[in-house]
Amino acid sequence: MSVKISGVKGMNDVLPGQVGRWQELEAVAREIFALYGYREVRTPVVEPHALFARGVGEGTDIVSKEMYVFEDKGEEKLALRPEGTAGTVRAFIEHGAFVEGPQKWFYMGPMFRRERPQKGRYRQFHQIGCEAFGVAEPAIDAEQIAMLADYLGRLGVQATLKLNSVGDAACRPAYLADLKAWLVERAGQLCADCRERTQKNPLRALDCKVPSCQPVLEQAPRLGDRLCGGCRDHFAAVKAGLDALGVAYAVEPRLVRGLDYYVRTAYEFTSDALGAQSAVAGGGRYDGLVETLGGPPTPGIGFALGEERLTLILEALQRPVPVRRPAVFLISADEAGAKEVLRVAAALRKAGVACDLDGRGGKFARQIKQAERVGARYALVLGGAEVASGQAKLKDMETRAETPVALAELAAVLSRSA
Ligand code: ATP
Ligand code: MG
Repeated sequence: MSVKISGVKGMNDVLPGQVGRWQELEAVAREIFALYGYREVRTPVVEPHALFARGVGEGTDIVSKEMYVFEDKGEEKLALRPEGTAGTVRAFIEHGAFVEGPQKWFYMGPMFRRERPQKGRYRQFHQIGCEAFGVAEPAIDAEQIAMLADYLGRLGVQATLKLNSVGDAACRPAYLADLKAWLVERAGQLCADCRERTQKNPLRALDCKVPSCQPVLEQAPRLGDRLCGGCRDHFAAVKAGLDALGVAYAVEPRLVRGLDYYVRTAYEFTSDALGAQSAVAGGGRYDGLVETLGGPPTPGIGFALGEERLTLILEALQRPVPVRRPAVFLISADEAGAKEVLRVAAALRKAGVACDLDGRGGKFARQIKQAERVGARYALVLGGAEVASGQAKLKDMETRAETPVALAELAAVLSRSA
C-alpha cells in the first residue's frame, strides 16, 4: 500500500525552477557584505531554549507563542531557532571572538516560528542577517543601514527605509511608564492585543496594525520627544551619516522592534509589493545583549532580512529567475552515436562547457524535445557518420540554423560562444 505524505504546513519546498532566484539573492548578499567587511558565521538550527528565553525575551510573541520547543530525551530543553541574533551572539561569546576587537558577521539560513501561515508568513522561513559587534558609535549604524540599502538596490528593489530611536535604559523606563498609563486610559478604544501588550510590552502596542487602533495610537506620546541627551545625539549622528551617504529615510516615531534587547537605532525596510506583510528587513542596536548572554559588555547592531519576502518582491518586479542552461545538448542518432555521447559530454564538461543529453536515447524527436525543455542553446547530433568523419553540425535551438563543426574543436567553439 502506498501512502502520500505532504510537507508540513507553512514549510515550503524551493524547486529547481525557482532556486536560481534564491541563489542570486544569496550570491549578491555575499558579494555586497564582503565589500563591507562582513564575514559569514554558521550556527546550529537548534539551541538551548534558555538562549532565546533570555536573549529574545520571555515577553515576546516569538518566545512565548511561536517557538518550537522540545525536550531532548529528558535532557536539555531545546528550541528550533526563531531568529539568528541570539545564536550568533552565543557563538561570539563562546569562542571568545570579542578579544579580536570589533567584528562584522553575517549568517543565512532557516528560522522557525509557529505563526499562522499566509502570504509572506511561514513556519519555516529564511533569513539573511548581519551583526556588527564592538562599536557603539553611530558610524556603524549608518554604514550597516547603507549596506542594506545598497544590497536591495543591487537587486532592483525599491524599499522604504523607516528609522527611529527606541531610547535606552536611561530614557526608556520613564517613557514606558507614561505610555502604559496613557494606553490604560484608552483601553476601551484599543484591540485585545493592544490591551495585552499594554501590560506586557507597551512599546509593542505602538506597532499594532489593526486599523481601528491607528487614530488612537497616532496620538500616543512619542519616545522621540523624550530621548536622553546620549540617545538624541546618537540618533542625530545616524541621520547625518545616512544623509552624507545619500540614503533616504523616513523617521517613523512609532517604529519599534519586536525583541526586548533593542536600544537606540531601530530600522525597517518595507515594500508596497508585499501587501500586508510589508517588512522585508528589520534591524536595530542591541548594546546590552552580549552582556545579558554572559559575555563582556559589547555594543552591537544587526538586521535580519526575510528571503521569502524578498523573492516575492522580485517576482512582483518580474525580475527573471536566473537559470543556467546547457550550452549544448548531445543527441545520439544511432548505436555508434549512443556510445560516443557520454565521452564527448565528459570532454566538454572537463573543458567547463555545460552540456546535457537524454540518457534514454531513442527517437530523435524525443531527444530534441528534451533539448528544448532544458533550454539548451545548441543541439548536436552524433551518429556513426559523425564519429567516422569527426565532423558534425551544431544546431542553434533558437534560429534552427546549422553550422559545421569539427568534433575536436567543439569545446573551444562552445567556450567562445558562451
Ligand atoms: P513581522 O512584523 O512581519 O512579523 P517581525 O518583526 O516578526 O516581522 P523580524 O523578527 O524582525 O520580523 O524578522 C526580520 C524579517 O524576517 C522580517 O522583516 C521578515 O521579512 C522576515 N520574517 C519574519 N517572520 C517571518 C515569517 N514568519 N515568514 C517569513 N518571513 C518572516
Ligand atoms: Mg513577527
